[in-house]
Amino acid sequence: MSDYFAKVKKWYRSTRWQSMRSNQLRRHPYCQCPRHRNKKIKADTVDHIKPHRGDPRLFWSVQNLQSLTRECHSGAKQKFEKTGVWPGCDESGMPEDEEHHWNLE
Ligand SMILES: [Zn+2]
Repeated sequence: MSDYFAKVKKWYRSTRWQSMRSNQLRRHPYCQCPRHRNKKIKADTVDHIKPHRGDPRLFWSVQNLQSLTRECHSGAKQKFEKTGVWPGCDESGMPEDEEHHWNLE
């Protein structure tokens, strides 16, 4: 596993992220995507608006977080898969795909 993925994986597993994530969902309980904005659809996923790509300033920036539904997040996932920039993640932010190299330690 590369240093990059080891580092990011550790971030997602940290209690710091867990509390950032639950604060975000408490403050913004509804999906913030353009489609659902103001529609009060309950969010269950916290997304980085700007992909952090291992940049701690983006990863740990509260301003860079948005609440999404799983469905909306997988829309983003498809986009990221197409561009090859970012894999799909589960609601904790870990990649969903069991074949993903984060899950193949
Ligand atoms: Zn949405």
